[in-house]
Amino acid sequence: MTINLIKYGLTTAVQADLTKENGQILGRIIGQHRDWYQVITTAGERSAQVTGKLAYEAASPAAFPAVGDWVCLSSSADNQAQIEAIAPRQSVLARGAVNRQDGQIIATNINTIFICMSLNADFNVRRLERYLTIAWDSGALPVIVLTKADLATKLRAVADVSVGVPTIACSAETGQGLDELQPYLTTGQTVAFVGSSGVGKSTLINRLLGQDILATKSIRTDDDKGRHTTTSRQLIPLPTGACVIDTPGMRELQIFMGDLNQTFAEIAALATQCKFNDCTHTSEPGCAVRAAVEVGTVTSERLQSYQKLQREMSYQGLNSRQLEQAKIQRMFGGKQAMKRVKQRYHRD
Ligand code: GDP
Ligand code: ZN
Repeated sequence: MTINLIKYGLTTAVQADLTKENGQILGRIIGQHRDWYQVITTAGERSAQVTGKLAYEAASPAAFPAVGDWVCLSSSADNQAQIEAIAPRQSVLARGAVNRQDGQIIATNINTIFICMSLNADFNVRRLERYLTIAWDSGALPVIVLTKADLATKLRAVADVSVGVPTIACSAETGQGLDELQPYLTTGQTVAFVGSSGVGKSTLINRLLGQDILATKSIRTDDDKGRHTTTSRQLIPLPTGACVIDTPGMRELQIFMGDLNQTFAEIAALATQCKFNDCTHTSEPGCAVRAAVEVGTVTSERLQSYQKLQREMSYQGLNSRQLEQAKIQRMFGGKQAMKRVKQRYHRD
């Protein structure tokens, strides 16, 4: 069996960037598991682990492979595939700062991130802004996808925050607007879909795949799991020539976007009694939250998961006014750069 890696996004640029040593072969990470990686190569799928050297020299989680990475593989004596090196990344979608210990890579080498919002209940401009920030920071180009266009229209509110970002209204139900996604789905392109649960990402991806590969909400509740081709792959080729990345981390992105104070209402209430307004409940004096942990009204596990989420959220912890002000500067580095970015959308 020979696999054509072009289906998995291989471009001449990738090949030029990667120096393979003798006997090494090229592969792309299509699945990440607890202690092994699924890698697609011209010879088919391989399971692989990172070499001891790579693990030893890794200074942060960012030094480990992630779904989307192009890698050099070698085989050890017991025929176990080993990941020797990672090609330079074109983009990195992460939660938290990737060079920090608590940073976490969700996927790499994504060309376009489709930010999905449904035109009915889910619609939320603040959330859209946060997704835009994450997308711009990743190095991928964001495209806003307003899903379920058959149900409603709220296009004007989106135009206010989406300065220069292409916006597509579509419906997986009627097929309306789907052709507008096609320019981003050509050979060599890698895309991802982010957005709240229930906005229709899986339905849309299935529609693009031409098969029900991903389980969608309505079908899950029917408990009709058998209909779905189970796939452990997190990077899937589309018939259009592009490939789509759908990792568990991509799904979780919506959780950490959620309102922390709602999920941890009791901690939020206690925090108002902390001595310091910006108390992180780690080592500050007069911390009401840690006092509650000491007397046992809040478990330390609960505080830990709160702090973990808080760290992740501090990444997009700008308040909405700061976001407004910093928007063009941060996204584009000024008006000139914004023009250039807009031109990038129109290149072929
Ligand atoms: P996900 O959580 O973002 O992957 O959302 P799903 O793809 O599971 O869809 C959630 C629900 O929305 C399902 O009941 C879908 O049938 C429904 N849905 C998805 N796309 C559309 C659409 O274009 N129009 C309408 N009316 N419903 C949709
Ligand atoms: Zn505190």
